[in-house]
Order: sequence, then structure tokens, then C-alpha cells
Amino acid sequence: MASHRHSGPSSYRVGTMAEKFDCHYCRDPLQGKKYVEKDGHNCCLKCFDKFCANTCVECRKPIGADSKEVHYKNRYWHDTCFRCAKCLHPLANETFVSKESKIFCNKCVTREDSPKCKGCFKAIVAGDQNVEYKGTVWHKDCFTCSSCKQVIGTGSFFPKGEDFYCVTCHETKFAKHCVKCKKGLVKAPVWWPMKDNPGTTTASTAKNAP
Ligand SMILES: [Zn+2]
Ligand SMILES: [Zn+2]
Ligand SMILES: [Zn+2]
Ligand SMILES: [Zn+2]
Ligand SMILES: [Zn+2]
Ligand SMILES: [Zn+2]
Repeated sequence: MASHRHSGPSSYRVGTMAEKFDCHYCRDPLQGKKYVEKDGHNCCLKCFDKFCANTCVECRKPIGADSKEVHYKNRYWHDTCFRCAKCLHPLANETFVSKESKIFCNKCVTREDSPKCKGCFKAIVAGDQNVEYKGTVWHKDCFTCSSCKQVIGTGSFFPKGEDFYCVTCHETKFAKHCVKCKKGLVKAPVWWPMKDNPGTTTASTAKNAP
């Protein structure tokens, strides 16, 4: 679920004190200084950090009155600490996705959720053509013959254990050879049932993760 940033609580105000007020906590005079007004009290910036500031869930330091704060589901970050857990891209001003209490950028979350190609081990992302065979997925171009490395994609092939062979390679490798002329039997005679059945892949184009 994509969400937008929520700005920090507006329950306090920062300003420069014009009047003769002292800090609610340490009693330091505030006149002419920056101060924070919160819940009807005026306090100095130091005391604000100490007693009032939210703690950043990332760096565990108080989010001072001078810092920009990002607030999401009752958790607080410095705006500079609000980053993608994976690529560390700052997300304070961008769309992000929250997953298992972590924050991710859109790109990283798509990658996380995507199935991995059995050929190149990279993610199959939106727009990638892919093929599926017995619950395993490949990029269409990564589904290749184990012998000649030609792309099989959606073409016919013969599975042999972990390997897949294109029709040509399957014939040269596994077809029965004629005892007399040693040529492979390109097509098995009708009375000789083929042991290996050709497989087929299901092709599809990856869509954006919901
Ligand atoms: Zn103070
Ligand atoms: Zn922080
Ligand atoms: Zn990221
Ligand atoms: Zn691949
Ligand atoms: Zn081949
Ligand atoms: Zn022959």
C-alpha cells in the first residue's frame, strides 16, 4: 500500500521570544531567543529536545524543534532519516511503501515482491516477458537450451532432470540411433513410443505489484 508522508505534529510552535518569559523547565530567560511553545508552555530548544521532542525511530536521537520531522502511524523520523530500508533513498518527499514496520521506496518494494528468474536470478519486474514451467519462472530470454544455449522461450523443448533441450539438441543427444547407418532417428517410428514428452511453458508479461 503506497502512502504519502505525513508532516510532523503541529502541536508545537517555534519562534523567537519577544516577551519576558522563562523556560518552563530550566527557568532560563527566553527573551530574544528561539523558543518552543507546546501545550501552553514555553521552553528553550535544549529542554524541548530533552523533554518534549519525539525520538527518531531510525537514529534514536530526539527530533529537535529545528529539525524537520516526518510522522507516520505514530512513529517519527528526522526527514533525513526517513529513507528506504534497502537503497537508502530519502523518502520524506516521495511516495513510499510501509512493510513490516520498514519503509521502502516503490522500486525496491517491487523488486522485493517480484519472483526471481531461475536463469539469471534477477527479479522479473513489470513489463518483463516471462515463461513458467512447473511453477518456476524465467525471463523469456533466459529460458534457454542447456546444450546450445539458444533461447527456447515458448518453443518446444524436452525437459531432462534440471536441464531443458531444444528439439534439435534433444534429437542429437537422446534420439535412438539406427544401428546400421548410425543416423539418429529424427522422428521416432510410430510403433516406438517416445519416452520423453515435450514440455511447454506458459508465457506472460509481468505486471506491477498491486
Ligand atoms: Zn530550558
Ligand atoms: Zn533520525
Ligand atoms: Zn529503495
Ligand atoms: Zn532472467
Ligand atoms: Zn539446443
Ligand atoms: Zn539407418
